[in-house]
Amino acid sequence: MPPRKIAFYGKGGIGKSTTQQNTAAAMAHFHDKKIFIHGCDPKADCTRLVLGGKPQETLMDLLREKGAEKITNDAVIKTGFHGIQCVESGGPEPGVGCAGRGIITAIDLMENNGAYSDDLDFIFFDVLGDVVCGGFAMPIRDGKAQEVYIVASGEMMAIYAANNICRGLLKYAKQSGVRLGGIICNSRKVDREQELMDEFTSAIGTQMIHFVPRDNVVQRAEFNKKTVVDYDADENQAHEYGELARKIIENEMFVIPKPLNMDELEAMVAKYGLVD
Ligand code: ADP
Ligand code: MG
Repeated sequence: MPPRKIAFYGKGGIGKSTTQQNTAAAMAHFHDKKIFIHGCDPKADCTRLVLGGKPQETLMDLLREKGAEKITNDAVIKTGFHGIQCVESGGPEPGVGCAGRGIITAIDLMENNGAYSDDLDFIFFDVLGDVVCGGFAMPIRDGKAQEVYIVASGEMMAIYAANNICRGLLKYAKQSGVRLGGIICNSRKVDREQELMDEFTSAIGTQMIHFVPRDNVVQRAEFNKKTVVDYDADENQAHEYGELARKIIENEMFVIPKPLNMDELEAMVAKYGLVD
């Protein structure tokens, strides 16, 4: 079976890279899966916890300095916790060029090099922010990823962003075959967060695949440049990521979402007391 290709989207700062790396670590540790993480954020901070530090050189750095023929798998793929393979696309020099284009180039190069090999179980694309235009839409537009998980919380802007990402998905689902596998609620301890998420996810035709609690052990592990599973696999939070990993592995609910219009979204959010 070829690997399942999954893209994680969500508002900037919502916890995509954290959730994704912790889930990858839990998949490897608790479920014995082989994973490849392709970081698509110009900040190149998508693989730090798995690698135990930020890689010095990104794929785009190497491409600029040495040219495409030097982009071998050995040169750009780093191996981290439990054999998880990692690549950071990186981006253009600040203020010059389009970061989205860099992502397209990086994914194409990895495909041509056969980096997404058949012995892998999962490939994760960690895509910057809630931008669903240009290069950032590419994993879902061109069928690079078949499955999407949106990381959100009960905060209004996170729900707006999730709804917007669903609009992008709706637009590309027919041509690329991409489907939404669910929304991961990364808790911000908002009042009635779980209820709001349940209502929002069922309104757009998907599921809340897991409710990930907010827990300071995530920061403690991060400070040590580790995922929680690597830092202390006995922690409750490690098992939460293990549960999310299991649900993704066993998931069978893949939909084309039905995003809400602004009036519907505002009415829903207002009911939960987030609007005065
Ligand atoms: P994104 O990739 O979406 O921009 P990050 O993964 O970088 O966001 O997360 C931003 C911050 O939120 C990180 O510093 C991380 O420590 C924190 N964070 C994410 N999820 C949790 C959680 N469940 N509990 C505690 N802190 C979290
Ligand atoms: Mg990130």
